Amino acid sequence: MNEEKYDVVVVGAGPAGSITAKTAAERGLDVLLIERNPEIGVPVKCGECVSKEIGRFVDIDRRWVCAGIRGTITYGPDGTKVILSVEGAEEVGYVLERRIFDKGLAQEAARAGAEVRVKTQAYGVVNDGGYAKGVYARTTEAEADIRISADVVVGADGVESRVGKWGGIDTTLRLADVATCAQFLMCDVEVNNEYCEIFFGDDLAPKGYAWIFPKGDHCANVGLGIGADVSSGNHCARDYLNAFVGGKFPNGKIIAEMYGAVPLSGPVYETVANGLILVGDAARHVNPITGGGILEAMQGGEIAGDVIAKAVQENDFSKRRLREYEKRWRKEFGKVLKAGLNTKNIVLGLSSQDLNRFFHALEGEMITKEFSNRALLKEIIKRNPRILFKLVRMIF
Ligand SMILES: Cc1cc2nc3c(=O)[nH]c(=O)nc-3n(C[C@H](O)[C@H](O)[C@H](O)COP(=O)(O)OP(=O)(O)OC[C@H]3O[C@@H](n4cnc5c(N)ncnc54)[C@H](O)[C@@H]3O)c2cc1C
Repeated sequence: MNEEKYDVVVVGAGPAGSITAKTAAERGLDVLLIERNPEIGVPVKCGECVSKEIGRFVDIDRRWVCAGIRGTITYGPDGTKVILSVEGAEEVGYVLERRIFDKGLAQEAARAGAEVRVKTQAYGVVNDGGYAKGVYARTTEAEADIRISADVVVGADGVESRVGKWGGIDTTLRLADVATCAQFLMCDVEVNNEYCEIFFGDDLAPKGYAWIFPKGDHCANVGLGIGADVSSGNHCARDYLNAFVGGKFPNGKIIAEMYGAVPLSGPVYETVANGLILVGDAARHVNPITGGGILEAMQGGEIAGDVIAKAVQENDFSKRRLREYEKRWRKEFGKVLKAGLNTKNIVLGLSSQDLNRFFHALEGEMITKEFSNRALLKEIIKRNPRILFKLVRMIF
């Protein structure tokens, strides 16, 4: 078995892994970023919609962007429409081209000094006295095994993450905490090019929602997610999507199909162990109400890279030292994930009639100060202060 040594090995070159690698390399660390697939960003498993807040973590390269969006239009089960936009803002978010975006982030990591290696799959964590001390990996081309020693292992290996388990962190997901998704990239479709559209309804997408995210040139990501616990036989995400697309775009052309899962459990109990950190979907850093995780992956990656650099400087890779990561991400976006989880649980408890009543109370256009869940909640309460009371009554 070949042996190699780095300060940090990052497993998975999605947004979480690339930003962690970039940040750690910028702080002068010797970083290896490995990706099992031959091409970073492929296959795409994402609706590709992000808010403009992404600019906090990276300078946006317009080649990564398919379409700028002005807001969202959400439809209740009976079709009641709620339009959300931001005061004075022409563009509040983007529909990305993740094939290009993910590669762009990996390039930034490489430019900062990280070594990036594709076709390299981790299959275990090197354990030394209760500390993760690297990973065992296999290069899929040469079928060669490598022991990659490192002071810190970063699990950025997405929803199917194994790194956490190998390192002793319980990342088990209950079926009820997973959304199974299907998405078609469609062309020759007439869509609203300025707004992302979201559709609720038990018949349409039980325990989930459907979406149409415009990609320009009469193309769009058309997809949906349903609760994995209600998926069965010929009632799986693909069947619901076929029905949705058949109704909306009978003459549209399907250019690509994609199937994937989103963890909606809220964060894992602990995201650090001795010599190990979990970031992005591997840490379940996904907003449980929207299913969005790109921003959290990047924000977590930035914090992780910074904390790892300090740990290397202090030559302390204990869980206690790495907890700074845990404290910082909880401070930065822990509350948002918690609020998302609570809201998801409330929404799942509503019948279609209750959800319709909720949409009726908000029908029309809502203009918020910024494109965030917090601003949305404020606006909802401002428009209809009794709504929270009503919601509580609906549930209990
Ligand atoms: C259908 C769908 C729609 C979505 N839509 C949106 C959206 O519109 N907006 C949004 O913000 N979020 C969305 N998400 C969520 C978003 O895609 C994820 O939150 C985001 O990609 C998380 O980034 P990550 O880097 O943690 O993981 P990933 O992007 O999944 O990257 C993990 C990487 O690790 C690699 N890997 C895994 N195991 C190994 C191994 N053993 N060795 C080496 N490499 C490995 C994988 O190949 C992969 O490249 C969606 C998800 C799905 C499934």
